[in-house]
Formats: sequence, structure tokens, C-alpha cells
Amino acid sequence: MAVPDWNWMRRAACAGESLELFFGFPGESTPEKDRRERKAKAICSGCTVRPACADYALSRPERYGLWAGLNEDERASERRRRMRRANMAGVTACDPEDESDDKRCTGCGELLPTSEFYRDFTKEDCLSYWCRSCQRERRKQEVA
Ligand code: SF4
Ligand SMILES: [Zn+2]
Repeated sequence: MAVPDWNWMRRAACAGESLELFFGFPGESTPEKDRRERKAKAICSGCTVRPACADYALSRPERYGLWAGLNEDERASERRRRMRRANMAGVTACDPEDESDDKRCTGCGELLPTSEFYRDFTKEDCLSYWCRSCQRERRKQEVA
């Protein structure tokens, strides 16, 4: 099973940039958002880890902010595009926006909301077997 790799985050071109630049601020007007996103996108366009960042942001219900040069709406359409592609390749269709049912973690055995699991389009229910915290623990042990 693929284990998430966080190393790319250390090489993020946005490291040290203000969160506001990527996530906006309350009461932001549309022209302000456009201007801000143009600046953030310029940083993403020169970022060497953009593909990993895109996979990360698209594989989880990351609703806010600009990731890999994509804002909320652009990510939603990119998710749909990837789902269509996965469907054509015969992978089970699933909707990442569907946050219903609970699921039991194979690692800790807890019954948890599906939001506690990573997306994994290779699985029948499109969720990882292990919950986020079990995956993180596992990752730590692998690094150690
Ligand atoms: S692609 Fe953009 S948001 Fe993603 S790590 Fe690079 S600079 Fe940050
Ligand atoms: Zn668990």
C-alpha cells in the first residue's frame, strides 16, 4: 500500500510565505482574491514540488486555499477530471465530497468518520485502510 510521503513539503516554494497569501482573509472581495491568487500562483509556477502538492491537495477534501496553483473551484474540476479518467481506467468511482458513513480503521480498529481517512482511489471505497493518525504513526516508524 502506498504510504503518504511528506518530504516534498520541505521543498515547498511557499514555505515562509504568509498563509494569507494562499488562504485569503475574511471579507476578501473578488478583485482582491483574484490579485492575491495571481501572486500565489506565480510562486506555485516556480515550485519544484508542485506535482506532489497537487496530488496531496486533490486526494483529500481540502476545501480551502490555493494549492499547486489551483484554487478551490479549479481543484474541484481537476478532481472531477481525474475521477472521469479513473472511471475510464476501470477504477471504482467515488465522490471525494461524500463525507457520509463511518469506517473501521484496519490499524487501530476504531470506527471513525470517513474524513479521518486519506483518499485512495485504488481502494473500493476510495479510502485508505488505515486512519490518518495510524498512517502518520506508521510513517514515523518508517522514517525512524
Ligand atoms: S505548488 Fe504552490 S502551494 Fe504547493 S508547495 Fe509549491 S508553492 Fe506551495
Ligand atoms: Zn487507526
